Amino acid sequence: MSGDVDVVIVGAGSAGLSAAKEAARKGLSYVVVEASHRIGGRAYTEELAPGQPFDLGCHWMHSASLNPFVAIADQYGFAYRKHSTWDSRTWHRGAWLNEEQRDALNSLSDDDEAVIAKAIASGQDTSIADVVDLESPWRPYHAYWFSLSTSVDIDQTGVLDINAYNDTDENWPVIKGYGALVAAWASDVPVTLNSPVDRIRLKSDGVEVVTKSGTVTGRTVLVTVSTNILSSGAIAFEPGLPDWKQAAALELPLGTHNRIAIMLKDMPAGDTEGQRATVMLEDDEIPMTIEVGPYGLSHAVAVTGGRFGSWLERQGQQASVDYLSERILTAFGNDMARHLADRVIVTAWQGDPWTLGSYSAALPGSHQQRAVLGRPIENRIFFAGEATSTDFYSTCHGAYLSGIRAVNEVAEAVHSAT
Ligand SMILES: Cc1cc2nc3c(=O)[nH]c(=O)nc-3n(C[C@H](O)[C@H](O)[C@H](O)COP(=O)(O)OP(=O)(O)OC[C@H]3O[C@@H](n4cnc5c(N)ncnc54)[C@H](O)[C@@H]3O)c2cc1C
Repeated sequence: MSGDVDVVIVGAGSAGLSAAKEAARKGLSYVVVEASHRIGGRAYTEELAPGQPFDLGCHWMHSASLNPFVAIADQYGFAYRKHSTWDSRTWHRGAWLNEEQRDALNSLSDDDEAVIAKAIASGQDTSIADVVDLESPWRPYHAYWFSLSTSVDIDQTGVLDINAYNDTDENWPVIKGYGALVAAWASDVPVTLNSPVDRIRLKSDGVEVVTKSGTVTGRTVLVTVSTNILSSGAIAFEPGLPDWKQAAALELPLGTHNRIAIMLKDMPAGDTEGQRATVMLEDDEIPMTIEVGPYGLSHAVAVTGGRFGSWLERQGQQASVDYLSERILTAFGNDMARHLADRVIVTAWQGDPWTLGSYSAALPGSHQQRAVLGRPIENRIFFAGEATSTDFYSTCHGAYLSGIRAVNEVAEAVHSAT
């Protein structure tokens, strides 16, 4: 770490890495300091076994036609599937849904859309739970799917934040891993790893950033850590962050979204689409969507979200594996028991010390805090990261674009000071 750079970038997730690349393009000097032993942050791919990639964090290139990672995937030779719809069955109260039930399940989406649109038109930032029909027998399914896209439950975020998201309905999965793509694209960015930032001091002529492995000074600092890290006090600011900045971070908390993968052994070759089912065994439980053999790979994967995801994470890895295994046997047959291997990956983002959650959701009434979170302090402390994106929040490309936005602000500040 060399002293006195134009910008010290805190965090090497998608936002910090795109900021570093943009700083280099603009001729700004920079240092990137990262707490963990790896780059990528919430973009991270591991292998269940050689040739069996699994994304622990982001996997889908959302709003693909507006997503810069699609061109990056093409450049780095990462294949992706150009659609996000495929056959899925639903297991409900001991049987697969019949046509009439499927229609009822689908028509609840239309009803939800209509009441949410009405709430948006009224300009009141109420929660989804305030406006939708909570009594519908199909509510648990929609509430579950909602918790996957927002990481929180339907009473925990507002309609105006949902409305601000720029959804083109194109969600394209990166087959060898979105995390692997981010790592390949950013492999040329110099990053100082294993260096958690403890303290950021505003000085008369710049900033001092104190890490566990040394201190670096700069004209400016760009903070890209998650809102839960910012609110946790893990980084002490001197002077303290103003009330408006602390409020913005607190009102954009990260919820929980976890991914559970079980390796499958001795499986007959399936089609490359894989199979998908949503399973709800008991009336009062949360459903779970399971994919078996996605892209022809030998694993099963399921996702959890919101309070239930958070609860299951706290029960530990084996509880998550047992929960998923039981539902695999129900949906795909008891014969699947002999295919379930010991190799598993279970994410625990809520407990991850460098994120403390999965992605941000604005509390009802707080959607405007995203712009506030991105606002600099005294033209020396700048902010980026998914939660600062007003239209692509919660995403990897939203984080990427926020890094570029913040470096443009840094460049203006640095140039106007010289
Ligand atoms: C399970 C899951 C599934 C997801 N699915 C998708 C998806 O399909 N598509 C999509 O687009 N997005 C998805 N996301 C969201 C996406 O991964 C994130 O929005 C994005 O990666 C966040 O990037 P970031 O740079 O803002 O933050 P981060 O990736 O969190 O980067 C911040 C970095 O700061 C570091 N840091 C923390 N504290 C300190 C400190 N004190 N000092 C120095 N460094 C520190 C962290 O280690 C981290 O590397 C998913 C996320 C999760 C968890």
